[in-house]
Amino acid sequence: MTETRPSNLQIDPQRLWDSLMTMAEIGKTAKGGCNRQTLTDLDREGRLLFRRWVEAIGCTVQVDEMGNMMARRPGKRDDLPPVVIGSHLDTQPTGGKFDGALGVLAGLEVLRTLHDAGYETDHPIMLVNWTNEEGSRFAPAMLSSGVWAGAFTRDFAYARTDRDGKVFGEELERIGFKGDIPCQPQPWKCHLELHIEQGPILEAEGKSIGVVVGGQGIRWYDVVITGKESHAGSTPMPRRKDALVAAAKVITALDALARAHAPYAVATVGEIKIAKPSRNVIPGEVRFSVDLRHPEGAVLDQLEQGLHDAVSEACAAAEMPSNVERIWAFPPVAFDPVCIAAIRDAAQASGHAWREMVSGPGHDSCYTARVVPTAMIFVPCRDGLSHNEEEWTEPEHCAAGAQVLLQAAVQLARAS
Ligand SMILES: [Zn+2]
Repeated sequence: MTETRPSNLQIDPQRLWDSLMTMAEIGKTAKGGCNRQTLTDLDREGRLLFRRWVEAIGCTVQVDEMGNMMARRPGKRDDLPPVVIGSHLDTQPTGGKFDGALGVLAGLEVLRTLHDAGYETDHPIMLVNWTNEEGSRFAPAMLSSGVWAGAFTRDFAYARTDRDGKVFGEELERIGFKGDIPCQPQPWKCHLELHIEQGPILEAEGKSIGVVVGGQGIRWYDVVITGKESHAGSTPMPRRKDALVAAAKVITALDALARAHAPYAVATVGEIKIAKPSRNVIPGEVRFSVDLRHPEGAVLDQLEQGLHDAVSEACAAAEMPSNVERIWAFPPVAFDPVCIAAIRDAAQASGHAWREMVSGPGHDSCYTARVVPTAMIFVPCRDGLSHNEEEWTEPEHCAAGAQVLLQAAVQLARAS
């Protein structure tokens, strides 16, 4: 019989906060944020500190060929597959102290707590630091968990270049973190990731814990509307083929469409370009991006149809040609019911207010979910702000997330 009651283990909130603040010193910015981009000297420094910390509590560190670091704490039954916890230590150029680092350092706090208590789990526990989650230096994001899950090949990843033409594979070698363990799917028991929400919902509802049941599907489009350039003074309104006015109608229609599929649908036009902009010329060609997200594929299909309809309608009256091209899609992710239940039970036992939710941003967990049972824990961040130097999560929320991670990991590390 598997025991389901929570353990008496308690993380140390102050020690967790100290390790977050110590890690944040590496790459700290004037505005209180963090610039520790992947495969830089600062990333190396952060990795070395991580290694010192986990080795000090008896863990062994393995590095795979993508530079993913895995710190392993043996289990009573070391032949069993590990319960894996973790996140990423790399940041955006104007990143904060919590995005990624919280998941890794809360994982460290879990290992320290088990170590201090002399607590033996049945399954081994492994703490992972994924390489290049952010994707700002080397696109795409979640590159190494993507290779691990088989979404990209290792050689595709090695060939990525940054703005200065530096190559991923060479930079990985230069910082000394190109390991020789193959980066490929492994039979882990599960993958649990604690992360800041990067959105406003938990804070607005006064909840400390988000039990994340899945990730939104994402679809990206490029839209082109072709009107006709003509004189702003002499072309009467009924004779105009104004591509920007049509684009404006599409943008407004998309906003309404997403609101009609509340609460999860979101639609964004983040880039727009007039081909030859001029103050006194009617815009002849307009290109814009569309980003649609929803946790269900069927609803994404409806949103996509809505986009096509909106473009056709906006262009019909003036008979303007248009083109809508889907350039990228990330399918919705459903997390594992057993992992979700373990997190829900841990949240309930912790006494913190919690709710179920889906993740808006992508995470390494969205790739690991393709291979092993996976779920995530969210904690609030101030004003929902992230990828910003002012990103902030209260110490008690960091502690709440780490405590839930500890209990969920301990529960899942029991042999069934
Ligand atoms: Zn992150």
